[in-house]
Amino acid sequence: MISRSEIKSYLSKEPLFDDMTCSLKATTRQPAAMIKETRKIIELARRFNKEVIEPYALELDRTMQKDPDYLPWEFVKKANEWGFFTLWIPKIFGGHGYNIPSLSYFMEETGSACLGLSNLICVHYLAVSTIFASWNLSLISKLCRLVAQGEKTGVPCLLSTAITEPGAGTDVEEVELVDRGKVACSATKVEGGYLINGSKVFISSGHVSQWHMVICYTDLKKPSENMIILAVETGSKGFSFGRVEHKMGVKGCPASELIFDNCFVPDDLVLLSRDHTGKQKRGVKETCGQILDYVLASSRAGVSAWGAGAARGAYETALDFALTTEVNGKTLANHEWAQSMLAEMYKNVCIARLTYIETNYANGMYGLFKTIQMKPLFYYFKYMPMILLDKFAPMILNLASTTWLFRKIQLDWQSDPEFHRTAGWGSLAKFTGTDMGMKNCQMALEIMGQSGLRQDRRAEKILRDSKLLQIFEGTNQLNRLNLFKCLVAKNNPMIKVFEKE
Ligand SMILES: Cc1cc2nc3c(=O)[nH]c(=O)nc-3n(C[C@H](O)[C@H](O)[C@H](O)COP(=O)(O)OP(=O)(O)OC[C@H]3O[C@@H](n4cnc5c(N)ncnc54)[C@H](O)[C@@H]3O)c2cc1C
Repeated sequence: MISRSEIKSYLSKEPLFDDMTCSLKATTRQPAAMIKETRKIIELARRFNKEVIEPYALELDRTMQKDPDYLPWEFVKKANEWGFFTLWIPKIFGGHGYNIPSLSYFMEETGSACLGLSNLICVHYLAVSTIFASWNLSLISKLCRLVAQGEKTGVPCLLSTAITEPGAGTDVEEVELVDRGKVACSATKVEGGYLINGSKVFISSGHVSQWHMVICYTDLKKPSENMIILAVETGSKGFSFGRVEHKMGVKGCPASELIFDNCFVPDDLVLLSRDHTGKQKRGVKETCGQILDYVLASSRAGVSAWGAGAARGAYETALDFALTTEVNGKTLANHEWAQSMLAEMYKNVCIARLTYIETNYANGMYGLFKTIQMKPLFYYFKYMPMILLDKFAPMILNLASTTWLFRKIQLDWQSDPEFHRTAGWGSLAKFTGTDMGMKNCQMALEIMGQSGLRQDRRAEKILRDSKLLQIFEGTNQLNRLNLFKCLVAKNNPMIKVFEKE
């Protein structure tokens, strides 16, 4: 008979049993009602593609070529009418409470029709993840309820996330790198709040958002130990929009410059600061790294879903071409070489999809959605009448002890292996999904020849959009290093990742 210690020793060898079995474990632990919800989301996304995105995507791309500063407000209003800015906000915070993994399927579906317009809807949830990762429950409640109010009144209330600065892109995505970056956006403590000075660039949806989650630093000499997240409202004194980037792809979603000139933010709009992270078990720097990774592990699964969407859009475009084109007297789809390429493209879509699905399982079991996807809580919120939630939730959420408890559960109780698993899988999904997207775009152009280069055939647009996915949410180079750090180097103390060369 094999002893317990032997079993433990075998299963603790790399790859770890727990790193390999997120989906297997999740099948029994996660609520079955998630399947029905996901079905509904996919149906909704396909209907929205047919009715709104497909007739508009190429036209918007042409408009943006002519007028790169154009802001697609009409589309934002339409997405607000369809409820897309609250669907994935938990009911306790005023939203419709759909399970978060279903958002990734929505991103694949809408991304397959247009990555720019899908971005314009879904990057709002990067900000939702950022406010959730702070576990500042009273502020989460306030901001999410404003979004819900925007849906009711028909005046959209979108959220953006501002991390990137003119001198620091990759560096601000990793707590180990941030001290080396040229960060310049500061928050100085003054009576009753903070003054922000500096700027942020490439902020998706900036110009069309009402609130911005700004990550800056209270001491620029040691940013890793002085990270602060502040909620800034459009129209605040000292805050203005700069240029909209004129970029090659994802044109439907503006990438904005945000400028802060002595912009005052009151203390009650501080989502997270040293005062909070210092109270957690891991201390200031490690907790900041953990919070960044919480956000990125979920948002990178989403970007992987866009990669799957790009791969699918390219595959479907190429398949359509192969079915309607004759080469040497035979339909292209009946040539063996084309069949083999289309099979490869189909496989690339599936690989991209599997990586975001597995990452979502990891996040649901060990990461950002751990508490809200626990069966009792999930069903409690699902079936509790909204009227009761609206009445009692704010009272409970405004208690300091509720925030304390959630920070304990989400931050202190997340073990190091769990933290490495979610962050490592987030990176794996991000670079795999987006590389698959690019691969399929190149293959589509190979299959389609000169037709693929024409704007009205979609393939060249998907390629222009897809390339950007490899750059944002951490470049794919950075994500490869992060995977190495989280899943390879963790057991090898002699290996150093993100060391200065
Ligand atoms: C369409 C779009 C939307 C965006 N939306 C947002 C948003 O909403 N909010 C936001 O905050 N930001 C956003 N960004 C910014 C995005 O996150 C950054 O572009 C990204 O993090 C890369 O930073 P960078 O472009 O400054 O590249 P750099 O950091 O300048 O990197 C340049 C090159 O050096 C490599 N490199 C840099 N450092 C390292 C390292 N330590 N090790 C190995 N290689 C390294 C990179 O991989 C890359 O190849 C967006 C960007 C785009 C293109």
